[in-house]
Amino acid sequence: MGKTCARVCAYVAWILFSLTSSAMAGTIEVFFNNENLRYTLFTTNDGPGEYVQLEKVANIFRLQLNIDAGNGRVVLQYGEKNLSFLPGESSVISAKRSYPMTFPARKIEGVIMVPLEFLTKTLPLIYEYNLAWDGRQRRLTVGIQNLELVSLYVSPFADYTRIAAQLSQSVPYKVTEKLPSLLIFELPQAKFNLQDNPLQINNTAVKHVKVIDSFGTTQILVRLGDEFVRYTHKTKDNPPRLIIDVFTTDEAVAEEETPTPTPEATVTEGQAATNETIVEQDLAANGETGTALPGQPFSLHTIVVDPGHGGSDQGVVVVPAVDATPALMEKQLTLHLSKLLSTHLIERLGVTVMLTREGDDFLSGEMRATVANSNRADVFLSVHVNNSISDQASGFEVYIMDYGSLDMPQGIKAQVLDYAQAKYLEQSKRLADQIVAAYRARNNGAKAVVKRAPLFALKGATMPSVHIEIGYASNASDRQNMTQEAFQQMLISAVADGIAAFKKGEEL
Ligand SMILES: [Zn+2]
Repeated sequence: MGKTCARVCAYVAWILFSLTSSAMAGTIEVFFNNENLRYTLFTTNDGPGEYVQLEKVANIFRLQLNIDAGNGRVVLQYGEKNLSFLPGESSVISAKRSYPMTFPARKIEGVIMVPLEFLTKTLPLIYEYNLAWDGRQRRLTVGIQNLELVSLYVSPFADYTRIAAQLSQSVPYKVTEKLPSLLIFELPQAKFNLQDNPLQINNTAVKHVKVIDSFGTTQILVRLGDEFVRYTHKTKDNPPRLIIDVFTTDEAVAEEETPTPTPEATVTEGQAATNETIVEQDLAANGETGTALPGQPFSLHTIVVDPGHGGSDQGVVVVPAVDATPALMEKQLTLHLSKLLSTHLIERLGVTVMLTREGDDFLSGEMRATVANSNRADVFLSVHVNNSISDQASGFEVYIMDYGSLDMPQGIKAQVLDYAQAKYLEQSKRLADQIVAAYRARNNGAKAVVKRAPLFALKGATMPSVHIEIGYASNASDRQNMTQEAFQQMLISAVADGIAAFKKGEEL
């Protein structure tokens, strides 16, 4: 009997214990986004508030915890900063100021418990990272917020395929190899809204690239091709991006991105592209990765518009000292005009238009052509503002690529990516002619010419491509015009007229 009672009583006690603990306790997840680390914290309900054990909090957040043996005051230290409170009191002191707590910290059976709001309202007084509470998921996210995987581009070259993932900020990442077929690049959880996902490459280096959400992380899965040999990965700034190169050869290939001078510098100073990294690409043999080759029927579906400059590269900046004409910053004006042009082209021609940048972002010349190539643009337009030492130089100019002053390496013909535009020069010239003619027609015969120059944004583009200098910032009258809405409307209408005429001619 006694034995049975002991068992039954223990059982009843266990049920009561289970009921109380399951009814009154829960868990939250603390997720360190910067490090992809997660912890589970147990919580208890005490009266109106939900509490967590302070010692566990201190452990997870690497806080130094001291309790004054005399008065029981609790001190939390993080780096140089600290805060203190007395259990039972509804205020916290930090940097000689007092902050209220809705629910006071408590001492329950000798254990100091703090309310959940302590994590989001009190801890930030001393903690350096952002803390965000998601009540639905019961997750506290520490660190990086609003991370975005902005874009994913793939550029296939002869010996390697480059995957560039552009992010809204620099983040740590982890690589897991599942060789020989898969590489996994794990990032903190990021938002992404990619045009193509998975991105089908189907070459010998990479089959496809796919981005997925997985357990609070975002993963870039690189499915490797049959001739995969090795890979490298690195991060780059301006804009922040992760660059993954997948090689089909063991030989080291020059893979550095060379900073490209601005077209203006190139145009006015006539610099040749010396020391440029030349990367071979057999476009003819690999038609699936490029756009339609010359000789194939042309049809206009996609236009990539490239607002010149951006980010740290401001382009031409004119702050007039004497005359009354407006100030001008090229990177802003080109973005504004490109957006206007984009809307106009979509409405008028029913085409898809993409911009190489939507904001104030830095992009290399190579990257701009890569956007056009990887999106299979049928036409590529780069928009710029001209500048000259002479304030008399003026007018609208449309440039096409000129390889004349570039040193063509021996033995490498037009299959080199850097010379990709060579195959499209005749089409590009026709496009430039149409745009210039349309501009003259819209602007009462105003000065407009077609020119040639070694332009870094155009040389790798695999479609008809032009670089438009809308006018001279150094010329007071041009500058006045460029900043006027009426002129801007005329300008985008003229460019659209030119593209429409070109389309009509090519699609015959
Ligand atoms: Zn420019």
